[in-house]
Amino acid sequence: MAKRTLAALDAKGKRVLVRVDFNVPVETDPPRIADDTRIRAALPTINALREQGAMVALCSHFGRPKGPDRKLSLALVAQRLSELLGRRVPMAPDCIGPETKEQVAELEPGDVLMLENVRFHPEEEQNDPAFAKQLAAGFDAYVNDAFGAAHRAHASTEGVAHLLPAYAGLLLEKEVRILTSLLGSPERPFVAVIGGAKVSSKIDVLRSLVAKADVLAIGGGMANTFLAAKGTDIKASLSEPDREDEARAIVAAATARGAEVLLPVDMRWDGDKILDIGPETEREFAAQIADAKTVFWNGPLGLFERPEFAHGTEAIARAMADSGAVTVVGGGESVQAVEQLGLTAKMTHVSTGGGAALELVEGKRLPGVEAIPDA
Ligand code: ADP
Ligand code: MG
Repeated sequence: MAKRTLAALDAKGKRVLVRVDFNVPVETDPPRIADDTRIRAALPTINALREQGAMVALCSHFGRPKGPDRKLSLALVAQRLSELLGRRVPMAPDCIGPETKEQVAELEPGDVLMLENVRFHPEEEQNDPAFAKQLAAGFDAYVNDAFGAAHRAHASTEGVAHLLPAYAGLLLEKEVRILTSLLGSPERPFVAVIGGAKVSSKIDVLRSLVAKADVLAIGGGMANTFLAAKGTDIKASLSEPDREDEARAIVAAATARGAEVLLPVDMRWDGDKILDIGPETEREFAAQIADAKTVFWNGPLGLFERPEFAHGTEAIARAMADSGAVTVVGGGESVQAVEQLGLTAKMTHVSTGGGAALELVEGKRLPGVEAIPDA
């Protein structure tokens, strides 16, 4: 990555503000963390800083509070992090303020402090300069490891990077390197599998990938729009007639550069609704994946939340897990599907950033990354 990374930071004896993405899914009653992937993903950066003898204060958002809200405290996260690190991670009462700054000042080398939910302050999302200044106070350096929040220009993801010497954390660095390499010179054949409910939410991803991939395999509800655009009479509920021109343009762009667009040849129905790709389509897509050197997948191939319509999604995930290709998965629900299937470890990379991962694949720049100085 062209950005300044942890490797350039001599963290010994420094107080380092680390922005992490601890916006984890939780269950209420009793309150528990449903999936701690994002906490575990931040451990390499936290441990690297501790080993160097830094004093670490972690800053994150959690949920969408409107002002301070005890139900959205990061205390539960601090507790889980304590277990993972094997040492107590105390909670600061706030992310700014005299009491918190005092706790920061008292940190010893190797200590880790969890700051309270940064979104308790509306100034966070407004990227308020005065608030960013308060966040930065008392720190010697800033490390951004919150890839999942890097597409937002908020005070803790963007603003502070201009006020302290700023560095990319290990997770952020890895995410950016792998996801941007898909648009660089991926090993070929490069197969992109795109699903999800609607074309309208994936048009930028499709436009970006059609310029790079050798094969675009399209499934999910949005395949209906592509089929309708081809003149197939599918009478599907989830087709978007106003998007058929865009679907035709994607196919034309692929054809012009000798790339292939694969559409479902059979489906699984519920009444008049198409809710999954069919077995023949699964075999065709899996065969492409087996022959690929690079595979990127975003978007479930069907309504996988219902087990009877999870077959297509599972088939794609298994084909990727079994292939020798570089395999990259991005997107909230797609990642959830891979995790449910227990296949995360079999992929080259499963992104921790939903929206941020897609924006990178769309070829966009992320404000949280751009704010870090070049190496
Ligand atoms: P991601 O979060 O991985 O980017 P999307 O948000 O685009 O994925 O789409 C996920 C949703 O699309 C899933 O909740 C899934 O149920 C839905 N979906 C996929 N195919 C269909 C379909 N044929 N009919 C209805 N919903 C579908
Ligand atoms: Mg989604």
